[in-house]
Amino acid sequence: MPSNHDTIAAIATAPGRGGIGVVRVSGRYAREVLLAVLGRETPPRQASFGAFMDAGGQPLDRGLAVFFPGPHSYTGEDTAEFQGHGGPVVLNLLLRRCVELGCRLAEPGEFTRRAFLNDKIDLAQAEAVADLIDAASERAARAALRSLDGEFSREVSVLRDQLVELRALVEATLDFPEEEIDFLKRAQAHERLAGIVATLAGLMHRGRQGARLRAGFTIVLAGRPNVGKSSLLNALAGEEAAIVTAVPGTTRDTVHRAIVMDGMLINVIDTAGLRETTDEVEAIGIERTRREITRADLVLHMVEAAGEGPEDVLAAATIPADVPRLKVVNKIDKGGKGACVEAGAMRISAKTGEGLEALRAELLRHAGLEGAGEDVVIARERHMVALERATVAVEAANLLLNSAEPPLELLAEELRGAQDALNTITGEFSADDLLGEIFGRFCIGK
Ligand code: GDP
Repeated sequence: MPSNHDTIAAIATAPGRGGIGVVRVSGRYAREVLLAVLGRETPPRQASFGAFMDAGGQPLDRGLAVFFPGPHSYTGEDTAEFQGHGGPVVLNLLLRRCVELGCRLAEPGEFTRRAFLNDKIDLAQAEAVADLIDAASERAARAALRSLDGEFSREVSVLRDQLVELRALVEATLDFPEEEIDFLKRAQAHERLAGIVATLAGLMHRGRQGARLRAGFTIVLAGRPNVGKSSLLNALAGEEAAIVTAVPGTTRDTVHRAIVMDGMLINVIDTAGLRETTDEVEAIGIERTRREITRADLVLHMVEAAGEGPEDVLAAATIPADVPRLKVVNKIDKGGKGACVEAGAMRISAKTGEGLEALRAELLRHAGLEGAGEDVVIARERHMVALERATVAVEAANLLLNSAEPPLELLAEELRGAQDALNTITGEFSADDLLGEIFGRFCIGK
């Protein structure tokens, strides 16, 4: 664990060349660092233009410096920001200067980690920072921003407060054994528990939608050559094709494409790219793609309205049996309606756009995002596990309450378990290794 007392520094902008590059410094010597680099003090939170100087007083770059006194800064500590030119060499010179002045290079996510440790944000909000940066679609970005604003955390704290109230009731009742049941009845403990279970279920549903938004929805395009797969892809991507993004950690080669449809990220795997090959590297890629197909969310099996031939049968055979599939009948503009109609098949023309609206709606339905409003929660696996644990505990408490002679101590224990589970979401009690795991995935400088 790096020390939280060091003054840390990092290049906060993305690597590479850019119009502007930012070096960020946080910790108790931030003010001194700024003074040494700029050669003068600056008023708090105001951009001051000047030369950034090396140890010998020679300019390294010219730009804006801003000082944010703690606790009114991102990290809650004194923070300095140097906005210079966005070239790797010049930014590294400036970073090295900060290190000369006593700064330590920041670990990935360390600025946000400090914001968490200094109570500027809770853990769910810190995770939302990473989700916002990594967002691959507009909807995911909006949901992450809502979490960052604390919406998700607030909902979790409301639930936790309700649990605390109930537990207080149960514990108070323990002191008055004669009237314990009536007391809890009058307090509508049963109804309250049922309410909490319902709220947890709603939160989990929205969390699952959010997980989908975050990871994207993976579809496989299967169909013989010329059936219209690329045409459909382009039609679905529509005007948003321009903001097709590369998702960190996934490969984007000829068989993979990512499109954004209705603000949602869709990973598309085109089975046309799956050919036999003797190239070792390509073979590895293809093997990986085959594995991905078995984990896909949906296969679009495309055929032509004019009819199906042996090639269509061959293409259909590449689709794993256990992946959900949707048959798409293309080129209905060319006539041949009536051919290959089967229940649930979507009839479209990638060329004229006919039927695309219905197909879009169907894809959203498969993604579990139909009717998903502005309250989707960008949940992580960790959050879902915590919500699940809380639900199990609250349901157990409800069962205990319903028994003839409720064992109040056990009941209180279950409520405490539920409360602890919710606390892990916002990070009230979080082990160091969990923090390491969460912040280690950030980029440096955040
Ligand atoms: P892929 O090989 O499956 O990717 O097929 P393409 O998307 O390249 O389409 C093959 C041909 O069919 C192209 O000439 C397209 O213009 C044409 N095409 C695709 N969709 C339609 C459609 O809905 N109607 C008509 N009439 N032609 C289409």
